[in-house]
Amino acid sequence: MKCAQFRTALSARLDGEPSGLPGTRLDKHLVRCPGCREWRERAERLRGQVWAIAADGPSPDWSARLLTRLGEEGPVGHAPPSGRAEER
Ligand SMILES: [Zn+2]
Repeated sequence: MKCAQFRTALSARLDGEPSGLPGTRLDKHLVRCPGCREWRERAERLRGQVWAIAADGPSPDWSARLLTRLGEEGPVGHAPPSGRAEER
């Protein structure tokens, strides 16, 4: 099995969908494969963020930052869209 197949299954499992793989098989691979562990952590974090936004809307902190930014830059049309998360 390739990592990509495990990751597809992992993603399905995160969504609460049938992964098509026994969970033990997935977990065993995760133990052996640091790449997939990292991938899962990222996927879980991403999912957590999406759910948090869906449940509560953007955090006050996020809104404040956005407002500050809008205030600073003004409604200029030539700036590239800055909807992306900041690089870490
Ligand atoms: Zn892997």
